[in-house]
Amino acid sequence: MRYVSTRGAAPALAFDDVLLAGLARDGGLYVPETWPVLTAGDLRSLARADYAETVTRVMAPFVDGTIAEDDLAELVTDAYRGFAHAAVVPLKQLGANQWLMELFHGPTLAFKDLALQVVGRLFDHVLARRGQRVTIVGATSGDTGSAAIEACRDRAAIDIFILYPEGRVSEVQRRQMTTVEAGNVHAIAIKGTFDDCQDMVKAMFNDTAFRDRHNLSAVNSINWARIAAQVAYYVWAAVALGAPARSISFAVPTGNFGNVFAAHAARHMGLPIHSLAIGTNRNDILTRFLETGSLSIGTVEPSLSPSMDIQVSSNFERLLFELFDRDGAALSRAMADFRRDGVLAISPERWQRARDGFVGHRLDDAGTLATIRSVWQSTGEILDPHSAIGVATADACRDDPAVPMVALACAHPAKFPDAVERATGIRPALPGRLSDLLSRPERVVVLPNDLAVVEDFVAARTTRQELPA
Ligand SMILES: *Cc1c(COP(=O)(O)O)cnc(C)c1O
Repeated sequence: MRYVSTRGAAPALAFDDVLLAGLARDGGLYVPETWPVLTAGDLRSLARADYAETVTRVMAPFVDGTIAEDDLAELVTDAYRGFAHAAVVPLKQLGANQWLMELFHGPTLAFKDLALQVVGRLFDHVLARRGQRVTIVGATSGDTGSAAIEACRDRAAIDIFILYPEGRVSEVQRRQMTTVEAGNVHAIAIKGTFDDCQDMVKAMFNDTAFRDRHNLSAVNSINWARIAAQVAYYVWAAVALGAPARSISFAVPTGNFGNVFAAHAARHMGLPIHSLAIGTNRNDILTRFLETGSLSIGTVEPSLSPSMDIQVSSNFERLLFELFDRDGAALSRAMADFRRDGVLAISPERWQRARDGFVGHRLDDAGTLATIRSVWQSTGEILDPHSAIGVATADACRDDPAVPMVALACAHPAKFPDAVERATGIRPALPGRLSDLLSRPERVVVLPNDLAVVEDFVAARTTRQELPA
């Protein structure tokens, strides 16, 4: 399996190189050259597989040739050992043919653990084989930082530095980053905004000498390995609910379009998906695109579902690549125009193809609170704000009551206790394994919004590269 860049001007790479590269050198995102196929027979045989086996079978053709299948099986099994639910990804029935897929039983209580726990181990495996190390740097406004830290902690070949805006993440989110006892983990509070943090990370990558000296790498949501790992839970849910004999619909709360693109990939591979519904909050560039055929940037407005407060969804470029019939040069020009003008209009024919693949729904904060309240009153289930957008989207976009509809629950309610308390009067408690989070000692350094200071800090704390013997 080779991967090609959506901008058409970077070399095709194998999985292990795509894993370590993240973004392609031409600024594009890597996508598989062809889609692996899951036959009806494959799906039937998965009916007896547990979650880790399902992930291994789904990922094997993506990893193809770069990691032995036994090694893949071992690291995937290890990745899900720390999940708090025996099923890893349990399905709960909410109503007639209506389901909730709980993706928050991992160490940091959000769906990002499902992919990142695997990706951290993939990095370690590939780096150990090559005798290399990497320094992962990232900026976070909340969930991604803690999931990346948990994925990389104590991994021999990785040092990880996560920048977050001081005072601008929730207490739970901050403590999930600052209370990790691992020598290779560095949480850095920056005196600035999330954009300042992100700009500094970009500047470190653009400082070629610094980047090469420390072998900088990233585990952000454009990394193909994350998508590949996420395909598995769509297959898992569909098989549990009757695939290949039945088609299934999914409703996916969406920010960077990574999660729902994994569903789209599963459909390409042959999973019988009836419809894919995209849920957005007031930052609704994707729903507006489906309504108008034009992608136009607005300003990011804070909402009760902060992990979806995004205007430019980085993974959307992978769908555009398909709509542009895989013409990387044409997409590259369109993306340059989009950067300049903030607008990307596509032809009516391409817009229709997008609408054949996806439906969309937007929910404001009042609707989010009302959904949390009504689902709690009618089922006893307490949703976090992101999951509430998934459930409301499932309700709004359902077109055939005979087709099972699965809404994705992307975070544990205790991660967003203020919104949940406003909606229900109940302050959700952290699960047992995190119940002492608020009393654990914190380890954090506060640095100014100053690139030179941050680079010096990273340089001083990065484990030296082993010189080849
Ligand atoms: C990251 C995140 C999202 C958005 O997912 P994308 O893959 O960026 O679309 C939604 N909900 C929660 C809780 C998240 O952490």
